[in-house]
Amino acid sequence: MAMDYFTDGRHEQLRAEVRDFAEKEVRPQVARMETERTIEVELARAIARRGWIGVTIPREFGGLGLGHVAKTVIVEELARVSGAAGSIAQASQLGVAKVLHYGSPAQRRAWLPKFASGECLPTIAVTEPDSGGHVLGMTGTAVRDGDDYVLNGRKWFVGNSHIGDVHGVILRTGQGSRGLSAFLVESERPGFRTGSPGSQSGLHGFSFGEIVLEDCRVPAANRLGREGQGLDVAYSSSTLYGRINLAAVALGIHTAIVEDTARFAEERVLYGRPVNQLPNILLKLGEMQSRLMTARLAAYHASYLLDHGRACDAELMNAKLINTEYALDSARNAMEIHAARGLQTEFGIERYLRDATHVYPPAGTSDVQRLRLGQVASGTYGTQWSAELSELTSWAWAELTRREDSAEEPGERGERGERGERGERGGRVLPMPLAG
Ligand SMILES: Cc1cc2nc3c(=O)[nH]c(=O)nc-3n(C[C@H](O)[C@H](O)[C@H](O)COP(=O)(O)OP(=O)(O)OC[C@H]3O[C@@H](n4cnc5c(N)ncnc54)[C@H](O)[C@@H]3O)c2cc1C
Repeated sequence: MAMDYFTDGRHEQLRAEVRDFAEKEVRPQVARMETERTIEVELARAIARRGWIGVTIPREFGGLGLGHVAKTVIVEELARVSGAAGSIAQASQLGVAKVLHYGSPAQRRAWLPKFASGECLPTIAVTEPDSGGHVLGMTGTAVRDGDDYVLNGRKWFVGNSHIGDVHGVILRTGQGSRGLSAFLVESERPGFRTGSPGSQSGLHGFSFGEIVLEDCRVPAANRLGREGQGLDVAYSSSTLYGRINLAAVALGIHTAIVEDTARFAEERVLYGRPVNQLPNILLKLGEMQSRLMTARLAAYHASYLLDHGRACDAELMNAKLINTEYALDSARNAMEIHAARGLQTEFGIERYLRDATHVYPPAGTSDVQRLRLGQVASGTYGTQWSAELSELTSWAWAELTRREDSAEEPGERGERGERGERGERGGRVLPMPLAG
C-alpha cells in the first residue's frame, strides 16, 4: 500500500523485499507454527541475517541506517503474514535501542555490528511477575562486588527470551526511580538460564517467556549507562521503540484482517450473490477499511517524526493506542462477517484475533496510553523522550559518531550531563513511572 508522504523509494523497495520474504519463507510455515507451537529459532536467524534487526543501526556500525519508518515497514510486512514473525523482529529491534542510546563507544563497537549482521540477537528484559506496568515495583537486584556485579532476579514475558544472545536486563541497584540500572547479560554466562516459555494463546513461534538470574556475575563493563540510569534505558526501549514497534505488529495483523475478510466477503455467496452485497457486510468492511487507513497514518506519521528528530511522544502513544484498538475492533468485525467460519483455524481470523490481543499489554496497555495522553492534554506530561533522544536517531548518527571519537569510559556517557542528567537538569521527573 502506497504511503507516498512518509516513505520514499528505499522504503518501498524494502517493503517489496520483506513482503517477498514473508510470502515465500514465512507463509508456508504458519500452519505448522500454529500446530507445533515451537520456538522458531531458524526463522529468527533468517530475519536477522537479512539485517532487519539492525535497521536503525547506522551504517558506520554495519547497520542499514534506514531509521524508524523503515523499521515500521519491516515489522508491518512480517506481521501481515505472521504476528509471530513480526514480533520476533520487533522484540530484538527494541533490544538494539539500549546499546544505541546508552552504550559507551566501546559497547557500541562491540555489539552493534553483531546485531546488524544478525550474528547476535538482543532483548530487553524489564517485566517481573510483581511489576509489569509498575516498573518501579521490580525486585531483582544487582550488587556491586569489586569489578563485577552479581545479578539475581526473574524476568518474564521477555520478547525473544529463548533465542536472545544478549539480554538487556534492568535491575535494582538502589531505592526509588534512580535505583535501577541496566546490564548486558550474555545467554551463555554462568548463572543465567531461561525458564518457562509460558503458555500464551497466540503469537505461536515467538518466545516471550522467562529468564532467570542466579548469582550471575557480570563485569562492571557490562553496565549500560550510569548506575541509576536503568529507568531511562527501559524507557528508551519501550517508549521510543516499543510503542511504534507494537503499533507496526498490530498494523500488519490489521492489514491481513481486512484483506482476508474482503476476499471472503467476495467469495462467500448467500441468496445467489456475494455477501459483500449485503449492506450490513459492506458497512462493516467500510468501517474496517477506515480504521486501517487511520491506523496506518498514525503509525507512519509517528515513525516519520521520530526519524526527523521531532518531539513526538504523543504521536507514538496514539499510534500504539489506535493500532491496537482498531485491529481488535476490526478482528471482531471480521469474526462477525465470517460467522461460524471465523472459528475455524483454516480461515486464520481467530489467529488474527488472538495475535492482536497480544499487542495490548506490552509497551503500555491502551489504558496506560490513554492516561499518558490525558497528561499531554492537561499539560502535566513529563519528559519528552523522543526529543531527549532525538540526537541519537539514525539521521543524526553521522554527526554523533564524529563527536564520539573523543574517548569516553564505558558506561559513563550520561555523567557529562548530555542525556543522563535530564531528570535533574530540567527539573522534570516522570510523574508516574509505568511500562511505556
Ligand atoms: C507479546 C508481549 C511481548 C512482551 N515483550 C516484553 C519484552 O520484550 N520485555 C519486557 O520486559 N516485557 C515484555 N512484555 C511484558 C509487558 O511489558 C507487560 O505485559 C506490561 O508491562 C504490562 O504488565 P502486566 O501484563 O503485568 O500487566 P499489569 O501491569 O499487571 O496490569 C494489569 C492491569 O492494570 C492496568 N494498569 C497498570 N498500571 C496502571 C496505572 N498506573 N493506572 C491505571 N491502570 C494501570 C493495566 O492497564 C492492566 O489493565 C511483553 C508482553 C507481551 C504480551
